[in-house]
Amino acid sequence: MTDSSDPTATGADAGSEAFARAWLSYRRRWWLLLASGVGLVALAAVADSTFPEHEPGKVGVGLLVFLCGIPLVGAAGLGLAAWQCPRCRHDFFQAEDGWQNPWRPQCARCGLPKWSLDPNAGRPPRNPAIGPAGERQD
Ligand SMILES: [Zn+2]
Repeated sequence: MTDSSDPTATGADAGSEAFARAWLSYRRRWWLLLASGVGLVALAAVADSTFPEHEPGKVGVGLLVFLCGIPLVGAAGLGLAAWQCPRCRHDFFQAEDGWQNPWRPQCARCGLPKWSLDPNAGRPPRNPAIGPAGERQD
């Protein structure tokens, strides 16, 4: 990898660097969600085993810890869902109709394949005979 502050870096290299940073951010958000979910269950289990005496009709400490931690896991999930595509800057997993699919293998808007470092990946090949506005260049 090249340094993105390197003035001799090509545009493609700079794009790849930006994409690599974006995918790292995505990966961190996934790990944060996973760790918060697993950590919450573990913490609730520890709290429940530490304070096993439950009075009938009262909420156990483990359940209370679990219920209080759900918003934190939800916030981690929202952070992942709001992750933006490094190419089009829209939510990567959200289609235009608002439907979220976190298992989507490519951007819902521009088709960038997941984990791609190529800014042009997933785009249809350009036809040199057709200009940017769709007019023929013959
Ligand atoms: Zn996109």
